[in-house]
Amino acid sequence: METDNRQPEVNIGLVGHVDHGKTTLVRALSGEWTDQHSEELKRGISIRLGYADTTLRRCPECTGPEAYTVEETCPEHDVETEVLRTVSFVDAPGHETLMATMLSGAALMDGAVLVVSATEPVPQPQTEEHLMALDSIGIENIVIAQNKVDLVDAETARENYEQITDFVAGTVAEGAPIVPISAEQEINIDLIIEALQSEIPTPERDPEADARMYVARSFDINRPGTEWGDLSGGVIGGSLVQGILEQDTELEIRPGREVEEGGQTEWRPVTSTVRSIQAGGEMVESAAPGGLLGVGTGLDPSLTKGDALAGQVAGEPGSLPPVWEQFEMDIDLLDRLVGAEEDESVEPINTGEPLMLTIGTATTVGAVTSARGGEAEVNLKRPVCAPEGATIAINRRVGTRWRLIGIGTLRG
Ligand code: GDP
Ligand code: MG
Repeated sequence: METDNRQPEVNIGLVGHVDHGKTTLVRALSGEWTDQHSEELKRGISIRLGYADTTLRRCPECTGPEAYTVEETCPEHDVETEVLRTVSFVDAPGHETLMATMLSGAALMDGAVLVVSATEPVPQPQTEEHLMALDSIGIENIVIAQNKVDLVDAETARENYEQITDFVAGTVAEGAPIVPISAEQEINIDLIIEALQSEIPTPERDPEADARMYVARSFDINRPGTEWGDLSGGVIGGSLVQGILEQDTELEIRPGREVEEGGQTEWRPVTSTVRSIQAGGEMVESAAPGGLLGVGTGLDPSLTKGDALAGQVAGEPGSLPPVWEQFEMDIDLLDRLVGAEEDESVEPINTGEPLMLTIGTATTVGAVTSARGGEAEVNLKRPVCAPEGATIAINRRVGTRWRLIGIGTLRG
């Protein structure tokens, strides 16, 4: 469908309950299957965030919402459509055990589409949980897609619409447009595009800022048995949150790697060169925020193998935020556990309890060393690189899984 390789300028997350149609909507908007496109998925390694880029367009001759399209030629007027902008969709998995993945994706989202199926009562557990996560992290630009309207009668669709309106009242999504669609039948996709254009603007970027990349994946792209001299350097994948990354510049990645010396372990930053940048499906010499980047480095591929650097931060040497092995945080607990079958209140955080913390794209377990009132001190299993004031999603083990219980602010 899309042939020109424009660089995406904004990341839009897809969130919502499993099977409500996130991946189908991404396909309708981009012609790509985020569930299937990645080679690693076929090899069964893991389910992680999928990105798909698409260029949003407008027919100069259509009037009203019908003008919005992803087609290069308007089927109605047979004229070339005008480019509005290229966006990158970040498709978060809806499965309940993958909340951490959704939260690390949220660090890369400039806005989000909350997909809600019209065929089920509102809210389903992850509809609520994901909305709460957007609310807590402060992702304010939201479009709600009321999906699968082809499967319900008009009366049910109306009731469901009311349920959605009631459900988002008082949250960050209050007032967000609710667009009835069928992702599968590609009905009202034009209205979704119109809403994306009006509700999720491309953030203003500071071109002078230091390049900073949140690493979401890392790979060893060499086939087993490759001769030493033919090895390609390690590859990191992720998004820039600020600045411009350029080829042939120096790169520091923090916290880096764990080094053992005389029974002591410590984390040391790794440094290398940006050898290549892949963005929007092509090799580029420089890249700005928006979309997924694959960055080829000169690192020993054993350092990047199997997501070893996922959750780390990359940028110009000396420009990165501090690395923390422990920190204090101010805590804002949720009133009650979201996504639970029954209403449960959130108990205060206890000294000694383990918490799963998501900061940027990093997920780490921290043991609480002291907790009182609205603050706690944690010791991290794996250190994180983050600025003071960073937002922390706090998860507690409840039953068999981690549940979002609140939001922290890193105090140092
Ligand atoms: P996800 O888990 O949110 O990514 O959901 P998927 O996109 O994988 O969709 C789940 C199932 O619902 C698939 O079988 C889709 O074909 C189906 N589906 C998605 N959107 C629609 C829709 O608008 N109408 C109908 N009838 N089925 C849909
Ligand atoms: Mg999906």
